[in-house]
Amino acid sequence: MWRTYRRAVEILQAVIVTGLPFLDINGESALRFDIPTLKLHVFGSVLWMQEFYLILAATLFFLLFIGFVTITLGRVWCGWFCPQTVLLDLSESIASVAKKKQRQNWQKLILIPLSALVSVTLICYFVPPAETLRTLFVAPTITAFFLVLWLLVYLELAFLGRGFCISICPYAMLQNLMFDKDTLVIEYDVSRDATCMKCDACVKVCPVGIDIKKGLSSACIACAECIDACRSMTEKKGMLPFPNYRGRVLRPKTYWLGGATTVAAIALLLLLWSRPPVDFLVIRDNASLPPDLNRYSYTIHNNGGKQLALELSSSDNVTLIGEHTLSLQPFSAFHGSILVKSNGKLEHLHLKISGNGIVINRETGFL
Ligand code: SF4
Ligand code: SF4
Repeated sequence: MWRTYRRAVEILQAVIVTGLPFLDINGESALRFDIPTLKLHVFGSVLWMQEFYLILAATLFFLLFIGFVTITLGRVWCGWFCPQTVLLDLSESIASVAKKKQRQNWQKLILIPLSALVSVTLICYFVPPAETLRTLFVAPTITAFFLVLWLLVYLELAFLGRGFCISICPYAMLQNLMFDKDTLVIEYDVSRDATCMKCDACVKVCPVGIDIKKGLSSACIACAECIDACRSMTEKKGMLPFPNYRGRVLRPKTYWLGGATTVAAIALLLLLWSRPPVDFLVIRDNASLPPDLNRYSYTIHNNGGKQLALELSSSDNVTLIGEHTLSLQPFSAFHGSILVKSNGKLEHLHLKISGNGIVINRETGFL
């Protein structure tokens, strides 16, 4: 029973994780970090790396969410959502059509194209997918990344496999520290030990090779395979499986941690929604120029998915020398500079960008 649910969740996870960079929203990947411009495309919006407060709010939400899920639902991530578990489970499922003795070799073969797909997907989280596919065997950097990632992912999955969860994964080690007596775990019912058939079906099916009858193990990834295996034996005798989920999900800790996570999520959403569609920053340059002349550098961020045509102007008695009319691509930044000649006495300069229903004024010094 649990295996059917897990496979459904795993296939969904694989489709989402592989599909996100390819899913087009407002002309960009649904989720992708663009390295050259240091911006994160996220579901039709863009986060610039200089927006530290948003990155901080997102990190805070993420940490609270991880804590909340781990403390209440235990290793649900490991057994149901972790990409490593998903890839190994799916390749095992496909390999199960082969004869028992050949399954391991089949799985290693199946992991070759799967690892290549993982490698391409990983690159697409940083380079536009169309560019990745077009240049995969043309651009030396992309080709090198693709081949190295492919090899590393393949070696890790095919030869380290579940050993990674037990020996290397830092999240697995952290989880053990976060558990309390009510955290959801899969546990053997010791009180019914006398009726256990000692058939070891639960041990044979365990992907990390532990014996759940010996008690809780930090290596257990909560995949629930032992519950299904035991049920297939106990069902015939009208008994419940001996290993099963044990824990108390709804308890005070769940409510206050869930509440804190919800508050962090709402704060993050409010911060995202309250962002202006366009940011305009101006600074005066330190340049040796005649007294009536100042130079200013400015940056305009287009946070939206529409192309903008903006006009740079000033309400002061000045002459702007430089480009006034600016065209901004969706989710792009424009860095420019302009010379400002004062036509009278001036202490403060007022610069304005306007167009497409946007008006932003900035005041800065004039020396
Ligand atoms: S003990 Fe059971 S739940 Fe834990 S890893 Fe083994 S099969 Fe999965
Ligand atoms: S599969 Fe069930 S009945 Fe068989 S040994 Fe394991 S716990 Fe006992």
